[in-house]
Amino acid sequence: MAVAPAPTRYDLTRDEFGTLLDGEPRYRLDQVWSGLYDQLADPADITNLPKKLRARLDAELPLALELVTQSVSDSGDTVKFLWELDGGSRVETVLMLYPDRATVCVSSQAGCAMACGFCATGQAGFTRHLTTGEIVEQVVRAAQVAQEGARRVSNIVFMGMGEPMANLDRVWAATERIHGDIGLSARHITISTVGILPGIRAMKDLPLPVNLAVSLHAANDELRNELVPINKRYPIDDLLDACAEYLEVKNRRVSFEWAMIDGVNDRESDAEELAELCWKLRPSAHVNLIPLNPTPGYPTKGTPLKRVHEFRDRLEALGANATVRRNRGTDIDAACGQLAAGQAVKVTPKPTSS
Ligand code: SAH
Repeated sequence: MAVAPAPTRYDLTRDEFGTLLDGEPRYRLDQVWSGLYDQLADPADITNLPKKLRARLDAELPLALELVTQSVSDSGDTVKFLWELDGGSRVETVLMLYPDRATVCVSSQAGCAMACGFCATGQAGFTRHLTTGEIVEQVVRAAQVAQEGARRVSNIVFMGMGEPMANLDRVWAATERIHGDIGLSARHITISTVGILPGIRAMKDLPLPVNLAVSLHAANDELRNELVPINKRYPIDDLLDACAEYLEVKNRRVSFEWAMIDGVNDRESDAEELAELCWKLRPSAHVNLIPLNPTPGYPTKGTPLKRVHEFRDRLEALGANATVRRNRGTDIDAACGQLAAGQAVKVTPKPTSS
């Protein structure tokens, strides 16, 4: 029988911590919890705890992520963390500091099984799911770095490596911790999916009103089957139905991500088809346009910025909301779709485009 791995520092729920602290005065749990999640302190630095307890927590609850490298770009406003996990696989986290907010982009899996050809993580394949503790720890460790610069993390996006809905139980447990204990508003947490319908439907019935983002990239099944292979299992009509249900139940904006690929999904017909899908989710569908970032395994270029803006204007003229997402950290391979954690990426033949 497989032995469950020993819990790491951010795996335990508050109740589980209570059990661990059995025999200690009751108020210790509050002190530990507030130290870990309000102050974002390591046990050794939770100074209102007795030294012996600090040492015990340090020894019994090790960190899960070993920092391999920390790279900085955009004059320090984008920080990418490369971590090594138990077992040797690697994942990345990105901290993005803006004037009005600080966002952490977290990974939910080491690698990804969804095989979107233009995405570096997809090109590398799937290794394993992350644990709840590994997900929460990414947020805490990035927030500690933000805190050094007197900044507080305000937003979380599950847009790092992996498909969050393929690991929904742990992603959700982490979301609850990020919301309830680190104290972020659910409205500032976004879970992005390639379009796993059972995941969207399950999330609709979960309590927190987090934002749903769908990586659409194509508005007809023929093209989407090519760009986002899971579309063959969960085609666009069904995906839109699930988005509409989510919108209705949660009353939260649903957004579509659209990586703009030169000559592939940036034509007039694409704008028209996409606008039509947006209308179905009125009044709230919002399109995030991301110029395709270069990855080793996908030779097609991103749409030039001028045409990205024209595409946005066209969508707006057709009655859809769209923004062009500012690219962060391209020079440190921290931008959308570039997270590969230094893994060798299979170079695939040029994908067919229409
Ligand atoms: N698996 C989830 C979470 C990843 S989010 C999902 O697909 O939604 C990362 C976002 O960046 C997704 O929208 C993804 O499709 C997009 N992306 C992937 N490769 C990209 C690239 N090379 N350039 C721009 N965006 C890319």
